[in-house]
Formats: sequence, C-alpha cells, structure tokens
Amino acid sequence: HGDFNQKIDYVFKIVLIGDSAVGKSQLLARFSRNEFSLDSKATIGVEFQTKTMVIDHKNIKAQIWDTAGQERYRAVTSAYYRGAVGAMLVYDITKRQSFDDIARWLEELRGHSDNTNIIIMLIGNKSDLDSQRDVTTEDAKEFAEREGLYFMETSALEATNVEPAFLTILTQIYQTVS
Ligand code: GDP
Ligand code: MG
Repeated sequence: HGDFNQKIDYVFKIVLIGDSAVGKSQLLARFSRNEFSLDSKATIGVEFQTKTMVIDHKNIKAQIWDTAGQERYRAVTSAYYRGAVGAMLVYDITKRQSFDDIARWLEELRGHSDNTNIIIMLIGNKSDLDSQRDVTTEDAKEFAEREGLYFMETSALEATNVEPAFLTILTQIYQTVS
C-alpha cells in the first residue's frame, strides 16, 4: 500500500472559497484524484480531500476543504476557516460578478482567519473558455498585487495550471513555517 511507509512531515489546511459554480469542487477533484465532472453536484457533501506532495524532501499533506454548496447561503462558518494556513479565492474568468465578489470573500476570509500569515492565492478558473472571457488577466493581476495575493489562471477541465497552483501555495506555506 502506497501510504504505508509514508512519514508525513506537515499537514497544511487550505480552504477553497468563492462564488458558487466557479469550479472549486472540480479544481479539487482534478488536483486530488485527477478527475473532472461536468455534473456540479457530483461532490456535494465532501468536507475535504487530501493529497501528499514532496516539497524540499518533505512529505507535505495538503488537506483541502471545499464549501460543498454552503456559499449559496452565505453560510461558510468560522469552523471552515479555523486552522487554515492557505486559502484559494476562486472566480470564473467568464463571470465578471464572481471576480467582483472576490473582495467580499477576501474580507470574510480576513475577518474569520486566526492566522495573520495565511497565504492567499487568487485563481481565475475556466481558462479554457477564453472566447467567453469577462475578466482580463491584467485586471486580476493588478488586484492580486494590490492585495498581496499570488495569482494564477487555471482550467480544471483541461488540467491547466492546477497542480502548479497547489504547488505554489504549498511551497509558500512551507516557507512560512520552516
Ligand atoms: P463550485 O460550485 O465552485 O464547486 O463549482 P463546480 O466545481 O461544481 O463547477 C461548476 C460547473 O463548472 C460544473 O458544471 C463544472 O463542470 C464546470 N467547470 C468547473 N471547472 C471548469 C473549467 O475549468 N472549465 C470549464 N469549461 N468548466 C468548468
Ligand atoms: Mg462545489
């Protein structure tokens, strides 16, 4: 069994936040199981997924939390944010509203977070739908720089930049704790 001899050096809790339907659950499915589904209900009820990666010769277990639909009712609770050392703020590049809502998500995250060193990454998902783009890369980059966030555009569908995004946030977290 693959996990049998694995010594885990660090467990990092990362929370996924952002409007409903931006692709949070599919990003997580792509990263943790290399799966993708067009059925957005496929992962409802899942609290978190884990995946272990090697960074700087250390086994780092990412424990990634998914809102599982709570974002529709603005019911993401403090328990969700508790202990998080990283957060991915996800918007859909084809939905301007989901990008405009990022400021509110950021405020909510900063209000709930008990960790002042939390590493935050802005993710513009659905980069495969470039012909329907409603948020320029420049706008997002500028926002990210102003707020001190890392930034990447991803496609859970095409598996573009998904692993690099998680690797970036995990590496940055690792550097703050080691
Ligand atoms: P969540 O509500 O943020 O968890 O969003 P979901 O992960 O459930 O995705 C919402 C919808 O967008 C589903 O129909 C997904 O198949 C679709 N979706 C997610 N990621 C992508 C992507 O990268 N590209 C495209 N074209 N569709 C995506
Ligand atoms: Mg979801």
